[in-house]
Amino acid sequence: MTPGTLTDENLLTPKNSNFLVAISPIGGGKYDISGCDISTGEFFTGQTSDPIDDFVRLSPAEVIFPFSTAEEKTIMKLRELFKSTPVYEKIYHRTDIAQVVSRVFGGVIDSATATKNTDCAICLLAGYLFNTQRGASITFRAPYTWGSGRQLLIDSATWRSLEIDAPINDGGACLIDVLDETRTAAGARKLRSYLRDLSGDLAQITLRQGHISHFILNPDVSGLLTSVLTSVPDVGRSLARLLSGRGTPRDLRNTSDFLNVLPRAQLLSNRLDSNFSERFAEINTHSEFALQLTRALSDDLPTFFRDGGVIRDGFDLSLDNMRSLSNGARETIAALQSEYVSATGINTLKIKYNNILGYFIEVPSARADALMQPESGFIHRQTMAGNTRFTTSRLIELDNDIRSAAEKASAIENEIVNQFLDYIRTISDDLLSTADLLADCDVWLSLACVSDKYSWVCPTVTDDCAFDIVGGRHPVIESVLRSRGENFVKNDCNLNTCAIALLTGPNMAGKSTYLRQNAIIVVLAHLGSFVPATSATIGICDQLFSRVGASDNLAAGQSTFMVEMSETANILNRATNRSFIIFDEIGRGTATYDGMAIAQAVLEYLDEMRPRTLFATHYHELTSLVLGGGLRNVSTLTIDVREHNNEIVFMHKIIPGVANRSYGIHVARMAGMPQTVINRAECVLSALESNETQLSAPSQPVSPKPVPVRKKTVVSDELPPPQLSLFG
Ligand code: ADP
Repeated sequence: MTPGTLTDENLLTPKNSNFLVAISPIGGGKYDISGCDISTGEFFTGQTSDPIDDFVRLSPAEVIFPFSTAEEKTIMKLRELFKSTPVYEKIYHRTDIAQVVSRVFGGVIDSATATKNTDCAICLLAGYLFNTQRGASITFRAPYTWGSGRQLLIDSATWRSLEIDAPINDGGACLIDVLDETRTAAGARKLRSYLRDLSGDLAQITLRQGHISHFILNPDVSGLLTSVLTSVPDVGRSLARLLSGRGTPRDLRNTSDFLNVLPRAQLLSNRLDSNFSERFAEINTHSEFALQLTRALSDDLPTFFRDGGVIRDGFDLSLDNMRSLSNGARETIAALQSEYVSATGINTLKIKYNNILGYFIEVPSARADALMQPESGFIHRQTMAGNTRFTTSRLIELDNDIRSAAEKASAIENEIVNQFLDYIRTISDDLLSTADLLADCDVWLSLACVSDKYSWVCPTVTDDCAFDIVGGRHPVIESVLRSRGENFVKNDCNLNTCAIALLTGPNMAGKSTYLRQNAIIVVLAHLGSFVPATSATIGICDQLFSRVGASDNLAAGQSTFMVEMSETANILNRATNRSFIIFDEIGRGTATYDGMAIAQAVLEYLDEMRPRTLFATHYHELTSLVLGGGLRNVSTLTIDVREHNNEIVFMHKIIPGVANRSYGIHVARMAGMPQTVINRAECVLSALESNETQLSAPSQPVSPKPVPVRKKTVVSDELPPPQLSLFG
């Protein structure tokens, strides 16, 4: 067992897949990958240029790589991020690798073609599974191609920062917590897989929106489907265990329960939308087999097949006969005890059973002498502290009868179970695709429930660069506020005329929330979901980037500022005018001049490229670039702040315009800073604002002024020389 090859129910998380992924560098910055989840039979192959981004979304339980590539840069990074195992050459560079691949993956791939290059990920994966899962035959489904089709690409930093499937801080909430109202474990896994693989295909998105609309418009159908799904067990994992010889009677019961729910699912076929309706009508309920299996399984199943008692009395005559033989012998043994009590006059004589001696007679040692005599007919077996154990030829005979009847019963039972398993093997593909269909329905039904409950709308998704959100909300923060009885303030975002919005405003006013909520709306729209807004028009994006907060990577030897710069570099190098970007406070981690210079240069760069961008900054001076007409594609936004009786109230409302103050000292007071520090800060601030010098204050204002815009200007060398620090 390795982290990526678990199948035991107790070791797996129901809602998450458990991927084992093989990766092998193939040059030119590309990687061959192949992965599977042996607990469900899911299997994929493909190539990628961004394994780190892909794997962060996929969150594999284990990554395997050729031992010889352990020092390669990307592989080293993957080794830091995931549980990883190097695979030695002899495991996949073997002359019989094609046979190994075909043995491991059955007939689902063309092993001769797949193994032309023995260094490829598929050989690695097959060799590793062959070595670790000796003897277990795993049933795989036909592989799909990793990253095929039009996708909205999300890099690893963005994925993490938007808290899509995991919160950044322990105990926080993430998007999936709001989205996941699935009724089945397979549905929950499917929702996560759709989120990892957001669509960039208009037709596909429209189709998915259609499913959700249909469920919202037909609540009775949703209700019926919900009750069907509530009874659907995790048959995918049960089948994988049963077919690999690791199943338990409970897995057989799951299969039977699954089969029994299918007629109810099929009845819904003409009530679902056209796409699902056809597929539901084609469900094969395997009714005869379902009946047999249900009739066969005991109500009270044992934990393991070897414990016996899986098959119910009355199902098979020969099994019943063997069981009654063994029960009859047991009854005779009970009668024998009374017989021996009266024959020996020892009232405390008992016939007991253990796994080592089988049935035996036990008397207190003080009374054992008479039984020790050979003519007594009792045979001494064991002397314990206080008790002595005996047997008799009659008891041995009965014990043998019971054992042989039990062995025969167990053989018959095994045969019946194996017949069921053999049949299940022949229909497993069909069962898995039906399970997949139900999981798919579960996803769209879950999103319909969420949309209906929280009044989300169907976005108009277009093939241009539109972005117009009216009344947008952050679904996670809104749900946190709702649980506290507070309201979330809705905000619009229109990037149709100016693709870039420069957002200034005080801390704690809601800038990050606004940025993230729009990025999350982009994610949801590309999932095919409804979105938390009053209305939304969104042009399909090719990539989504988010540079927010300090995702410290100190452990990996990178300072906060370095992380910020490399994430920004990554965005600028990869973005196109079809991308959507949120930038929160770039340049903050360095000296004011450097930081502002970088922020200005980035803004100018974006103004040329025109990706839809929300750019929040502390450098209020940057807004004068926009107001001065230097940036054609940038508009300014700020957050409404009201002052009332010397108190500052953050309205969380985004409005056009620029912030005139930072209210940093106000936030410091809210945070409980000592009053003396607050007073002193106010004093220093007013000195700075009135451009006075006090102590060793600088002779010029600390805030640098932005330099005029020039296309592709390198701004830093045009800035005034840095000031000494205020107290320096
Ligand atoms: P900033 O990025 O400006 O420092 P945040 O976006 O982190 O501010 O928001 C601070 C807090 O304000 C959030 O945790 C949230 O509780 C509240 N908040 C933000 N936006 C809204 C909103 N639109 N409606 C209600 N509360 C909000």
